[in-house]
Amino acid sequence: MKTKSGDFVLPGDALGVTEEFVPSDWTYEDDGSIRSLIAGTVSLDNKNKKISIVPKTSSPSILKSGVAVFGQVSDVRGQRALIKLDSIKDNNRGLVTSFSGGIHISQAQKGYVAKLTDEFRIGDLIEARVTKIIGVDNVDLTTAEDELGVLKAMCTKCRHYMKQVSKNEVKCPNCGNKERRNLSTKYEG
Ligand SMILES: [Zn+2]
Repeated sequence: MKTKSGDFVLPGDALGVTEEFVPSDWTYEDDGSIRSLIAGTVSLDNKNKKISIVPKTSSPSILKSGVAVFGQVSDVRGQRALIKLDSIKDNNRGLVTSFSGGIHISQAQKGYVAKLTDEFRIGDLIEARVTKIIGVDNVDLTTAEDELGVLKAMCTKCRHYMKQVSKNEVKCPNCGNKERRNLSTKYEG
């Protein structure tokens, strides 16, 4: 186990195993491994056996239209998916304030989308592109490009991350549940 407090990590980096540690802030469990959701610094709590990440801060001014970002789906409601932004792709820098982004159903993918829940679900990790800054902490996003969309899909039944089985379908290795998603061509699993 090489990770130690103060190490700088990127989204998806392995931090430890669930046999030894409990995943805490800004981490997730992936098949027994604990990984970072964001770019940041590792914080190990050896007493309580917890691993968390302290987000790396940076100037929010670098968030602008056209920039690709990583985030996590926090809600899917009606015509809009809400995304909590984690970091900017190009420099892997975190965001100093918590930005939220919205993806309108018309911006989910190139073609027609009947149900937004066939595109995204709560907990999914996604890559998206900023189309418009609409407030100090709020942006509009699009995933209507092949490389954009869901990078990791979270099972709605048991919260495990799922494996890709076809262009638009994932399957849960834990419970066998199959779901549809707008998968990025860079889907991780
Ligand atoms: Zn499942």
